[in-house]
Amino acid sequence: MNKSKVALVACDSYDDARVYSAVTRGLDLVGGVSNFIKHGEKILLKPNVLFGSDPAKCVTTHPSVFKAAGRLLQEAGAQVSCGDSAGFGSCESNMRRAGLKKAADELSIPLADFDEGQEVIHKAALLNKRFIIANGVLASDGIVSLPKLKTHGLMRFTGAIKNQFGCIPGINKGQFHIKMPDPYDFAAMLVDLNTFIRPRLYIMDGIMAMQGNGPRSGSPRKMNVLLFSSDPVALDAVACRIIGLNPEFVPTSKRGEEAGLGTYHYANIEIVGDGVEQFIAGDFEVVRRRPVSSSGGRVMAFLKNQTCAKPIINQTKCTRCGTCAKVCPVEPKAIDWDPDDKVNFPRHHYDRCIRCFCCQELCPEGAITIKNTLLGDIIFR
Ligand code: SF4
Ligand code: SF4
Repeated sequence: MNKSKVALVACDSYDDARVYSAVTRGLDLVGGVSNFIKHGEKILLKPNVLFGSDPAKCVTTHPSVFKAAGRLLQEAGAQVSCGDSAGFGSCESNMRRAGLKKAADELSIPLADFDEGQEVIHKAALLNKRFIIANGVLASDGIVSLPKLKTHGLMRFTGAIKNQFGCIPGINKGQFHIKMPDPYDFAAMLVDLNTFIRPRLYIMDGIMAMQGNGPRSGSPRKMNVLLFSSDPVALDAVACRIIGLNPEFVPTSKRGEEAGLGTYHYANIEIVGDGVEQFIAGDFEVVRRRPVSSSGGRVMAFLKNQTCAKPIINQTKCTRCGTCAKVCPVEPKAIDWDPDDKVNFPRHHYDRCIRCFCCQELCPEGAITIKNTLLGDIIFR
């Protein structure tokens, strides 16, 4: 069996020239740009723009990584476009806030249409056969995915596989949390999405990562590494090794290998470039336990209610903006807030909360954290 190749390249700053040189080296290590694209092809760059914010906050793929990848693709003769569908708001406004619109303009890279999409049927999907995919994705010949190394409430960490969720435009994303509240089903859907879109290459920005309360409200953590691979499962597994997280605890890795998208077993991965040991941060703040599955009948459903982590509001940080209620996908809302109420804070209703953690993910103040239960820590470790 051929091993999946993951290249690691050290890079300790976002200086444009240094990142360009590091990305050039990384691409050479995985076979060169021409291994992935042909002259004249329409290639879409897909950064992580969860919610456009200052690059220093490490929520989004850094503009210098975006620019390096864009330049190299253009030099190889690709017609490059870019985009992402963020948590909410237009692609353009989020790209602008993240500094990615400016970077795209410098290279004359147009924004692709991520605000509207079309229905596609993925016959070979294992779980979810129907998707609405952004027009910009469907109009491209191929995708180069630019994930950011960050923690994630539902999936433990967000990497190469999860990055394609932004290929589903706008509010169409929310329905999947309702349809698939089980994290392993949700991961299987993400894997189906990946086997439909099949990005040709993944370049992960791990120069500055996000630890703790990710993917939006954690703290920046300097990791000094860029990762390259055409196997998203292997790339995520190596990223997990760097942050000291067992890939078995990451539902997208489990389901990705089961679906044949790639491998997370280190014995089947060849790491090239700079040695992995120098990047390992065993004290990286990430939840090191399996997400609780609700499949398996009533016993598991009961266990989930007793053991599953909960979103909690920190009232000292909450500004009562109402974003959490807006993004909560269940009806009636599992977190609600009366806009006329200037005294009380929004409140979670755990009896109807499906633990999708969208409220935690998109709270602009970092006021929502995820609290594990002691019983859950014991059972699902
Ligand atoms: S999104 Fe965050 S800051 Fe806004 S109301 Fe909800 S908890 Fe408070
Ligand atoms: S309250 Fe938060 S975690 Fe619960 S269903 Fe709503 S958005 Fe998801």
